[in-house]
Amino acid sequence: TDFLEEIVHLDLPIHSETSSVVIAKSNMSDRGTILVVMGASGDLARKSIYPALWSLYMHDLLPANTFIVGFARSKISIADILDKAFSPTEQEHAKFPGFSGINFYEYGSYSDAEESLLLSLRFDSIEEHFRQKHLSGHNRIFYVALPPSVYQSVTTLIKQVWMAPGEGKTTLVLEKPFGTNLGSCDELSDHLSDLFQSEQIRLVDHYLWLEMTGTIMTVRSVNSLFSQIWDKNFISSVLISFKEDFGTQGRGGYFDKSGIIRDVMQNHLLQLLCVVAMEIPCGCSQESAIIEKSKLLEAISPIDPDEVVLGQYIGNSDREDGYLDDPTVPDDSLTPTFATIVFHINNDRWKGVPFIMTAGKALNETKDEIRIQFKSSLMEDIGLDLKRNELVFQIKPVENVAMNVIINEPGLSPRLIEDRLSLDLRKHFSNHRFPDAYENLFAHLLGDGQSIGSFVGAEELRISWEIFSPLLEKIESEQWKPIPYKFGSSGPVKAGQLIQAKGFKGF
Ligand code: NDP
Repeated sequence: TDFLEEIVHLDLPIHSETSSVVIAKSNMSDRGTILVVMGASGDLARKSIYPALWSLYMHDLLPANTFIVGFARSKISIADILDKAFSPTEQEHAKFPGFSGINFYEYGSYSDAEESLLLSLRFDSIEEHFRQKHLSGHNRIFYVALPPSVYQSVTTLIKQVWMAPGEGKTTLVLEKPFGTNLGSCDELSDHLSDLFQSEQIRLVDHYLWLEMTGTIMTVRSVNSLFSQIWDKNFISSVLISFKEDFGTQGRGGYFDKSGIIRDVMQNHLLQLLCVVAMEIPCGCSQESAIIEKSKLLEAISPIDPDEVVLGQYIGNSDREDGYLDDPTVPDDSLTPTFATIVFHINNDRWKGVPFIMTAGKALNETKDEIRIQFKSSLMEDIGLDLKRNELVFQIKPVENVAMNVIINEPGLSPRLIEDRLSLDLRKHFSNHRFPDAYENLFAHLLGDGQSIGSFVGAEELRISWEIFSPLLEKIESEQWKPIPYKFGSSGPVKAGQLIQAKGFKGF
């Protein structure tokens, strides 16, 4: 494993926790920041936003003069929100009052300024505090953790009532989904661009802020071992997979409106495809990453319906319910819970290399990974049935970088075998902290702008919908019937056959 260990040992500032420290601590500006969590009563706030902010605070990574104001319609308190989001350990207790002291919660409406007066008053009182501290002003970040149905009204209200005063910067952060097809994406983009300048809008796909996403960029770009063979001459196919070993768990109502393609493929998995296939952005700016992603997406050919397999899970003998048994799902739903789609990138680097995306619920395991298979080895060419050289980035549930290589089996008459060089990042860096995606994201939003991750650009988003919308329209207008697959299986057999037909070995 030495050489893989070396890869990860490179002390690159862009991916280490110390870089976040530098980011946040360097932000000793004369300006304050108010972070507003819109939808603070919700699931994302509880599961991801508040735990990430607490963790940054715990590690002294929140810049000074930062205040966090939760906002939603529910008449709850900030104590309720923090209580549900995390429990400080015994060692952490001492810091909790400090964190609690910079957090507030106000209730109001997402569309009516008068009903939301409490939030305006809270801004006034924090502003007064900044004034007393002789700060030159403050920035406001509105993190919209709300259902998309509220995006238009809440963003209008922000623009009309709550923009940062004076020279202060206002940033609007939105979470996917950004529309459900090309038309609704355009509608949202037009609405936002009528209200805000492009540099004020930040569209978040949290997969772009995972530690492993940053690692993939590093491994492929700074190691000549890989950077020189990162193209059609050496790579035979790429498989990007997302697997969950659980179903909708009684909450299929939401999922049924989107299906697996809209839920994870058009956003998360497409972003991973970009990270593997785009040209390395020059410089570290957000804009250069977005430009490279857009160029790559432009080069993707229209999806061939013959290279698509859809599935929907059914119950199994262990009495696990099928998708249609979920009482919140319509009995006749054709929504796919599984899909495999092949993409072709029509540019010099990738022409002829299939990029296969496969995603599903209720499968045999929970795992997100990217498998990059290299062209056949000499051994294969002379007829030995060995697996391909393969570079594997496992993203969830553990972060692992692995490589399949062909070696000698020890013995007097050695046999050629393939084996795996594997680096489990959490075990290897057992005394390091692994910031989660939201910590990385907030360190960037609240810091001075350097980062490991990137955002989704408006043009990039539009192109992504140009890729997926025609397929989704076809599936929906022709009422494609997904292939049933058993809960706990590896998905429809036909999907495996398609993957093999594209030259990917060992699926
Ligand atoms: P929730 O469904 O938990 O909604 C968040 C808050 O929005 C609720 O607490 C509620 O607050 C308010 N709300 C809910 N429904 C409505 C409605 N119909 N009209 C007005 N307000 C409503 O959403 P999540 O927190 O799960 O997600 C927020 C956003 O982030 C969504 O766009 C989601 O797609 C996205 N996202 C979520 C992820 C997750 O893991 N949860 C992952 C990735 C993206 P109140 O009633 O108090 O006003």
